[in-house]
Amino acid sequence: MHRGSCLCESIQYEIESDLKAVVNCHCRFCSKAHGAAFTTLLFAPFSGLRVIAGEDLIARYHMEKSNADRCFCAKCGTRLFNHAPQAGMISLVVATLRVDGPLRAVAHINTESKCSWHQIADGLPQFASMPAPAEFRQLLAG
Ligand SMILES: [Zn+2]
Ligand SMILES: [Zn+2]
Repeated sequence: MHRGSCLCESIQYEIESDLKAVVNCHCRFCSKAHGAAFTTLLFAPFSGLRVIAGEDLIARYHMEKSNADRCFCAKCGTRLFNHAPQAGMISLVVATLRVDGPLRAVAHINTESKCSWHQIADGLPQFASMPAPAEFRQLLAG
């Protein structure tokens, strides 16, 4: 079990995860929302997330295109996770986690919409869009 919070710490959560399904997402939405070249995300089942404080402060911005909500703190603006209810999954913003153990991204995804001013300078696998589930499983196994 891992814990995390937003910047103002009003929202606190727990997440059940082995912290392996971590990617750097270069999609335009992440880039705009975070004001950064890319966002490091952890994929996890929604059922593994428990908001233990500040649930009423979670604001949602619905993205038609991905049919998902981008969830953030209404008080401090920290992006916490994206929730795709139909898929039953979240992608958690890793930077909000309090991590004790090792954690590393396994791939770059959505590189087709990468910022032109950012250069990927590591050897991690790159995917133009979102890898298919089978591809993703293979990545995590390797
Ligand atoms: Zn906050
Ligand atoms: Zn993204």
